[in-house]
Order: sequence, then structure tokens, then C-alpha cells
Amino acid sequence: MTGRTLTTELTEVATSDLYRDPALERIHDIVLSGGRLGMEDGLALYRTRDVPGLMRLADLVRRRKVGEKAYFVHSLRLSQTNVCYVGCTFCGFQRKLGEEGVWDYDLPQVWEYVDRFWHPDLTEIHISSGHHPKRPWDYYLDLVSGLTERYPGAQVKAWTAAEIHHFTKITRPRLDYREVLSQLKDAGLVAMPGGGAEIFAERVRKRIARAKVSADGWLEVHRTAHELGLPTNATMLYGHIETLEERLDHMLRLRQQQDETGGFRSFVPLAFQPDNNPLAEELGTRHTTGVDDLRNLAVARLMLDNFPHIKGYWIMITPELTQVSLSAGVSDIDGTIKDEKIAHASGAVTELGMSEQDLVQLVRTAGRVPVRRDALYNELKVFA
Ligand code: SF4
Repeated sequence: MTGRTLTTELTEVATSDLYRDPALERIHDIVLSGGRLGMEDGLALYRTRDVPGLMRLADLVRRRKVGEKAYFVHSLRLSQTNVCYVGCTFCGFQRKLGEEGVWDYDLPQVWEYVDRFWHPDLTEIHISSGHHPKRPWDYYLDLVSGLTERYPGAQVKAWTAAEIHHFTKITRPRLDYREVLSQLKDAGLVAMPGGGAEIFAERVRKRIARAKVSADGWLEVHRTAHELGLPTNATMLYGHIETLEERLDHMLRLRQQQDETGGFRSFVPLAFQPDNNPLAEELGTRHTTGVDDLRNLAVARLMLDNFPHIKGYWIMITPELTQVSLSAGVSDIDGTIKDEKIAHASGAVTELGMSEQDLVQLVRTAGRVPVRRDALYNELKVFA
């Protein structure tokens, strides 16, 4: 169904029949007339008790953007090391050099690792890892160019803005964001993941990610990537100490930047994982609830009107809830993934990867049309 037909269909139904909450009726009218939602609207969305109505409203926006399609990618997660000196309090992945459980691949070990998971349909190698205090800059360039040469069908999507910031510190003479990203692009990088954003609010950042790149630094790295023609994603870590206002502030800052650069492809809410990290110990162990997750995805779909996709990251919210999220604004479910390590180190309870067959089945039984895409969101196969 086209957006126009759907709009006609929904304007023919009284909004009081669609929503139990008058606030949603009001926001429905803003959304349908192409208006923008602000902080107060976002709070009303987060606080509404009409969760089915909220999902319906987010679904309206999703359908206007992508119709019945739901996207996924054949991907492999590569974390070449878990050595990190940053010390984010929500992270169960990091290790110090020499500590038990450390891994730290040299280049032949990276090739060996990718060979283990290699499949002709593998489209995306997604790299994120720790901030290693000793690896030299050339290692990262050789890693990208080596992957590009050895696995020509697979696009390298690599390193969070936090890691790009780290690279500027290890280069001699010191390079800026633009030069680091330009050299990576020349080596074969085609896109960047969205990690490291956490929550932009200074109050939260100081408590959970004090030594990481600042919010302004994160945004500047992505701005630079977009200017260089590298599309990126954006994340938000939720479900810990942040307030609803801080979540919305995070989204509004991303929306503003997207107005300026247009380079974000998807927004990926990351649910806080409650094991093996100091923040979880401080807060007491808890996973986000299904309604928290769906509500958050739906609000994101409505607030981030200029983002092409909202991603349901099945690794963190389970395949079952991801399937439901396809009716709450989600149009992308990431991918096969193969060997996720970061979320699992902090308590994710899902499998480490999923077959294409299972992803297709998950999408189909949710009433959507599965589409395999590449790292740049080009459509590779429509499973009609
Ligand atoms: S989240 Fe990333 S930067 Fe922070 S401690 Fe973990 S690996 Fe290091």
C-alpha cells in the first residue's frame, strides 16, 4: 500500500476509533500533516498507556517510508580485540592487556577468523572492538585493505566514532577525524556503525562513559564521515540511569544533524544488558521489558522523521520481540551476524547468529516482505 493510499485510509477513520489516548489523536494529526514532533510530544508518547495505539501510529510512519518491506543483511561481526583502556561502566566486554579472557588478533588471525565464517553471500563485515593502547595506526589500515582484497564481495563497515576518536590519538603526527576517515576510506571502508553514542546528555555520560569520546566529538565524527560520503548508523543505549527527557534530547540532536548531513541510514536503540558490568551491579540486575523496548522503538520512529530506518537489534531484544517490533515502526532487523561478542559479554541471552532462512521466516510470519540488503542499503534480493 502506498503512503498516499494509507493516509487516505486512515483519515477516513475517526482518530478516536484508533486511539484511546487523546494525546495520540493530536500527534496523529501532526504526523499526518507532515509536522514535526518536539520534546513534549515525545514525552506524551513515552508516557501513553495506549501502547497498541502508539505502535499503530509508528507503523503508519514505517509504512509510508518502506511499504511492506523489512530489511536484513548477511553479516559477520568482527571484534579484533577486547583490549580496552576506556572503562565504560556498562561494558562487560573490555579487558586489560594480560588479563584473563583477552584476545588480540594479529592480521593472520583476523583472516583465519573470517575464513571460519566465510560464505559467498556474506555482504558485510561489521567491525567494532576495544580501544587498544598499543596497536599502531598502520595495523587498522592494513586490516581494512586486507579484508577488502581477500573478501571482495563483503563490504567493510567499521569502527565506532569512539574508535575513530581513539585513532586520532595514536597517529603520529596526529591526524584529525577527516584525515583518519579519508585514509580508512581509501583502504576500502564503505560505511560506519553507530556505536559509542550511548546517551549524549553530559550527566549520564559522566557516569557511564566518562573517558569515551564526548557527545560533540561523536557527532563531529559522523558529520565528517557523511561529508566524505560514508553513510553511518546511530545508536542509543537505554534502560539504565537515563531519563525520558535525556532519551528525547539524544534523538533530537540526531535529528538535527540528519537535517544537516542526511548521512544516517538507521537508528539502533540498544537495550542495556545487565550482567558482568559495574553499572548493572550498581543498579541491580534487570533486562529492559518488552513494552519498554517496543515503546522506545515506536517513539524513535515517530521522532526521527528524517531517518530512513529504525533497527530492531534482535541480539539484544530477542528474535521474538524483534518480530513484533516490525509492527511498531521497525523496518530493519540487522542480519545474520554470525558471531556477536559485545552484547553477549554483558548478558545478552540470544544466539550468536541466525540463518538467513530463519530471518526470512521471522519477517514473513510477521506479514512483511523480507529484503536482503547490503551495507549501503542497496536491495540485493526481495523474497517475494
Ligand atoms: S564500551 Fe567500548 S570503549 Fe567502552 S569500555 Fe567497552 S569496549 Fe571500551
